[in-house]
Amino acid sequence: MTEPTTNSSAAKAFCFDYIERNAKAVACLSDNIFYFAELGMQEFETSKLMTALLEEAGFRVERGISGFPTGFCASFGSGRPVIAIHTEYDANPDNSQASGIAEYTPIVDGAPGHCEGHNVNGAVLIASALAAKAAMAKFDLPGTLKVFGAPAEEQLLSRPYYVRDGWFDDVDAAFHDHIAPNFSVGYGLIQAALVSATFTFHGETAHAGAAPWRGRDALDGVVLMDMGLAQYREHMTPTMRMHRVITDGGLQPNVVPRRAAVWWYFRDSTAEGAGKLFAQAKKIAEGAALMSNTEVEVEVLSAVWPVRGNRTLAELVEREIERVGLPRWTREEDELARSLQAKVNVPVEGLARKYVPMKGPAVQKAAANDAGDVSWKVPMVKFYYPANIPNISNHHWAAGVALATSIAHKGAIAGAKAMAASLIECFSNPAVVEEAKRTFKDEIGGVEYTSLLPREQKPPVDLNRATMEKFRPLLQRHYIAERPHFVP
Ligand SMILES: [Zn+2]
Repeated sequence: MTEPTTNSSAAKAFCFDYIERNAKAVACLSDNIFYFAELGMQEFETSKLMTALLEEAGFRVERGISGFPTGFCASFGSGRPVIAIHTEYDANPDNSQASGIAEYTPIVDGAPGHCEGHNVNGAVLIASALAAKAAMAKFDLPGTLKVFGAPAEEQLLSRPYYVRDGWFDDVDAAFHDHIAPNFSVGYGLIQAALVSATFTFHGETAHAGAAPWRGRDALDGVVLMDMGLAQYREHMTPTMRMHRVITDGGLQPNVVPRRAAVWWYFRDSTAEGAGKLFAQAKKIAEGAALMSNTEVEVEVLSAVWPVRGNRTLAELVEREIERVGLPRWTREEDELARSLQAKVNVPVEGLARKYVPMKGPAVQKAAANDAGDVSWKVPMVKFYYPANIPNISNHHWAAGVALATSIAHKGAIAGAKAMAASLIECFSNPAVVEEAKRTFKDEIGGVEYTSLLPREQKPPVDLNRATMEKFRPLLQRHYIAERPHFVP
């Protein structure tokens, strides 16, 4: 155990002060991203705003990294240690929800929206980066801060590409911020591995009324594959999960579909397990093609390692979390939480009031995050900050209710303080970074990280384009006019 050092306290106090005097800008940034409501790979307004703020503050910004038009890497400083922070800022389809209203009220019906809080993640990333940078300059702290913008987390896309392409080769330690109803941090395996793949079946059209025997029905391939995997569920291990959407089911009933497609996510607690499930799915897809006289084409969109947390960094972040503490909620904020909890029939407990310290390794969740690859490449920790209402599940309208209210704004301030203070600790106490590297080696044992992505795989830049083109003009009417302005 490395004890916290002493000379960092002035720099941390400076960061806290910086974040507090910019509280309005942090809230404004979070709200701007909330109303942009951009789906993965289409976060153009969001990344434009975030990179502009980094550039104005003196970061060197590289845009479009690894072929992601809305991805970026912003750096400040030089030499070691090299500390990276990263997060996502994408929305989800059909998750449009008005802020501050405890009942289902879409801003634009059917449109994308932030019902997980990645808008706040982006604001926390920028606020902590600007605060840490200002402190590094003022207190002459050595080292390099790298800020990664990671598009399309909901499709588990960007970070495996960044790691594959060497963006984390010189990184000594990394931090990932994510919204939750409370502060938390963990070490060991935290989330699941995942393979995302599309299965496109190809057949031949025919008149479905006059001469159906002439057709080869691609949708039959999709349906038979679905049946095959449904039968296979019995034989999956309890840690495995799989789910799908049919993205192309044909055009009209009297034309036998020539093309049909299904998009699957396969999860397990290990990369090996997710790979096994995917291999079984490919066999079943081939069987379905054989039965339906069609051909199947498989495309892997992404494949991620399970997120793990490094113990040294988790303990470091926990010390800062305890220093920052939970926001003090007003009665109105707590009332909103309670009425929402009552509305969706979950325990009515209001907002989080107490931090629960780590007790041993984390309990691994079935959710996944594309930060997994980073966490096997370098010592990394993912921490959660308190900016949403407890007991509500993400990707549901209720999870969007607090995201442009003072609940999210206060939580963002708390999250940014914890992340900025963790960065200052690394820059002023290089021994803790060395220890994180040592414990990381012990933790992963003989495992050597290799990317699960094919070497030539390129990001799907057209993903979600049509949906955003449809909804962006409608969403634009709800954008907020004010832009965030950070003061030194
Ligand atoms: Zn998320």
